[in-house]
Amino acid sequence: MTTNSVLISEVGPRDGLQNCQAIMPTAAKKRWITALAAAGVKEIEVGSFVSPKLLPQMADTGEIVRHAIEIPGLEVAVLVPNLKGAQLAVEAGAHKITLPLSVSETHSLRNIRRTHDQVIDEAKAISDLIQTLPEERRPHFEGSLSTAFGCTLEGPIDEAVILRCAERLMAAGCDEVGLSDTTGYGDPMSMKRLIRAVRGVVGAENLTGVHLHNTRGLGLANVLAAYEEGITTFDSSLGGLGGCPTAPGASGNVVTEDLVFMFESMGVDTGIDLEALMATRELVQAALPDEDLYGFTPRAGLPLGFKGAPVPVAAE
Ligand code: ZN
Repeated sequence: MTTNSVLISEVGPRDGLQNCQAIMPTAAKKRWITALAAAGVKEIEVGSFVSPKLLPQMADTGEIVRHAIEIPGLEVAVLVPNLKGAQLAVEAGAHKITLPLSVSETHSLRNIRRTHDQVIDEAKAISDLIQTLPEERRPHFEGSLSTAFGCTLEGPIDEAVILRCAERLMAAGCDEVGLSDTTGYGDPMSMKRLIRAVRGVVGAENLTGVHLHNTRGLGLANVLAAYEEGITTFDSSLGGLGGCPTAPGASGNVVTEDLVFMFESMGVDTGIDLEALMATRELVQAALPDEDLYGFTPRAGLPLGFKGAPVPVAAE
C-alpha cells in the first residue's frame, strides 16, 4: 500500500558532512539547518555523537542539536554509536536517536570494533536509559540495519543473519528498525525482498524507513521500489553531499532535490518547497567551496508549469 505523502529525512548535516574533508563551521551548519526547516524539511539528522578525534566534522553536534530543537515542528535526529553517545543525545534534547548495527559482523568489528552481541548490549543499555526519562522526554529509538544489501568486506549477507539482527534490535527495546544500503549495493528487487522479509519478523509498523545511497545510480529506483512496498520515510542528503571523490558523479546519499522532485511530480506530497530547498545549496557551497554538489534537478531547473503535489486534505 502506498501513501500520498512521505517524510523526507535530510541526513546531509550528518552523513554528508562526515564524508567531507573540510569541516563546515558551526554557524554555517545552523544557518543551513534553519533554512532547510524553512523550506519544509520536517526531519533532519543533524549530527552524530562520536569521538571528535574520529570525526572532527561532528565535534559540535551537541551545540547543533540545541540549536535545532528550538526550530518549531522540526524532528531532530542524531546518530549514536553507543550508550555514551546516547547519553549526550538525551542531554542535548534530540528527538530521535539511531544506533547502527552493521549486519556484516566483519564490518562491525572493523568499523566500531564490536561484535553483534556487543552492539545489542549497547541497544539494551540505551533503551534502559530512555526508560528512565519522563515519557515526554523520551527520544524515538531506531536500530538501523546497516550494510543490509551487501558489505564491501563480506559481500552479500545471509538473509537469516539480517532477520535475526532485526529481531534482536526490537527485543533490545528499539521502537523500530530501519534498512540501510550503506554501500549502494541494493537494487529494486532486493529492496522489495528484504523489506518484506524484515517486516515479516518485526511487523510492517516497525519498519517504515530506508537509508539509501546512490553509489551506482540506483538510488531513486530503489526509493520507488521501497515506496511501492509501503515505506514512508526516506533518508537523503542535499546535493548528495559527501560523494565519493574517486567516482565523479556517483554521489553519496540519494540527492534530496531529485528525490523531492520525483515524489512531487508523482503527486506524492513531501511538504517541501523545492525552490527554497534548492536555494539552500548556496549556503552549503559558500561554507564548503571545494565540495562537489550533485543533483539533476538543480542543474536542469524545474519543468515549465511544474506545480508539485497537491497538499493532502486531512481526514475529518
Ligand atoms: Zn549512509
